[in-house]
Amino acid sequence: MAASDIKYNAEVRDLTRIERIGAHSHIRGLGLDDALEARVVSQGMVGQTKARKAAGVILNMIREGKIAGRAVLLAGQPGTGKTAIAMGMAKALGEETPFAMMAASEIFSLEMSKTEALTQAFRKAIGVRIKEESEIIEGEVVEVEIDRPEGGSAAKQGKLTLKTTEMETIYDLGAKMVESLSKEKVAAGDVIAIDKASGRVTKLGRSFARSRDYDAMGPATKFVQCPEGELQKRKEVVHVVSLHEIDVINSRTQGFMALFSGDTGEIRGEVREQIDAKVAEWREEGKAEVVPGVLFIDEVHMLDIECFSFLNRALESDMAPILVVATNRGITRIRGTNYRSPHGIPIDLLDRLLIIATEPYSEREIRQILDIRCEEEDVEMSDDARELLTKIGAETSLRYAIQLITAAAICCQRRKGAEVDVEDVSKVYSLFVDVDVEDVSKVYSLFVDVKRSTQFLLEYQEQYMF
Ligand code: ATP
Repeated sequence: MAASDIKYNAEVRDLTRIERIGAHSHIRGLGLDDALEARVVSQGMVGQTKARKAAGVILNMIREGKIAGRAVLLAGQPGTGKTAIAMGMAKALGEETPFAMMAASEIFSLEMSKTEALTQAFRKAIGVRIKEESEIIEGEVVEVEIDRPEGGSAAKQGKLTLKTTEMETIYDLGAKMVESLSKEKVAAGDVIAIDKASGRVTKLGRSFARSRDYDAMGPATKFVQCPEGELQKRKEVVHVVSLHEIDVINSRTQGFMALFSGDTGEIRGEVREQIDAKVAEWREEGKAEVVPGVLFIDEVHMLDIECFSFLNRALESDMAPILVVATNRGITRIRGTNYRSPHGIPIDLLDRLLIIATEPYSEREIRQILDIRCEEEDVEMSDDARELLTKIGAETSLRYAIQLITAAAICCQRRKGAEVDVEDVSKVYSLFVDVDVEDVSKVYSLFVDVKRSTQFLLEYQEQYMF
């Protein structure tokens, strides 16, 4: 296996990441000052100042290498930002720090053993930074814009405009391209086609510029011509991929397509051993570094005793990521045993945990978080609508109110409104909760109904929960 075999993977990883953590895309760190005090609103973080400060202290311990064998427990009610804080820790450790998250209950629904699911989660949170010298071209890139005529053969009637973009390196055109460049040497004058939908890069060679057979390439193709002249330059290219991604790519039974579906199945122990040996070799040769990331396991009380002993062992490994677990339970039974313990966690693991408590948000904080999310999602929203959404957040949950932003924005778009208004928020809200919201004046009645619906949930939760 060569380092280049796993490079194309960067894009796959980004895709899965965006989908899974979209709700936290506004979090860029913990928002602490140099004295580790939490700024009230900073780096996308609002309030929860004590917990953020505590997380910052732990980060310092991590940086000083004093966290080996230990983990973090975030204890607090749902929607109090436990995931957000774990994510903020990863971000504060650096942009390329891997962040993996899972709900403990997931491991019981997957078609693989519990320990395999946990092993995969751990390996998703361990990054490998691979350094490589790559032949790339620096200088002006000539972009070939194609004006396709309606019908007919574009090759005959199409107009080819050569547009010189600003000083841009081919590297800037994306990691995809670098990948292909290092596999296949690209020379000055070559034309490269980039399929915008798939990101696939194809070298077309110099002859393409003459033949202009762009019809063959499909309509969503961008063409780039490498500049003429002495532009070849060696440049170091760095990729960070997770151990799990390397596992999947090298697992003969799975193949890299499994990364798209997320259904990666079990990975054989020998594959992992080979990969660990290879990574160790790269580290020795100075070609790679291990980047421990953050693994966040929510609802940790759902794990059973077998899983807990796995965690204890995994924390001892010298490649262990930073484990952050979360729960909203107090004293409860440890699954797989008849014993009760704090948070349903066995004492030997509890001993290793640094515990941070999160507290419910005030309405003001909910409003600030919603304001940040509106900005993040590029949604214009009236003050009244924000107020209403804040109330909904306080009555139901912050996460729910955040989800309504997107739905209300679609509603507003449909009626061609300039900004999301109370009517949009009420409308989407009434879709999900069985209330009749005809107009703005009835908004107040909404809250009565929310209480009723909460009551309904309380009455029926015995059936749904265990
Ligand atoms: P659960 O216990 O249900 O998993 P949680 O405590 O992990 O919930 P989050 O999922 O982190 O809560 O929070 C819900 C939403 O609110 C997310 O979109 C999160 O990014 C955002 N959020 C939570 N707390 C903050 C905060 N302090 N600052 C900014 N955004 C926050």
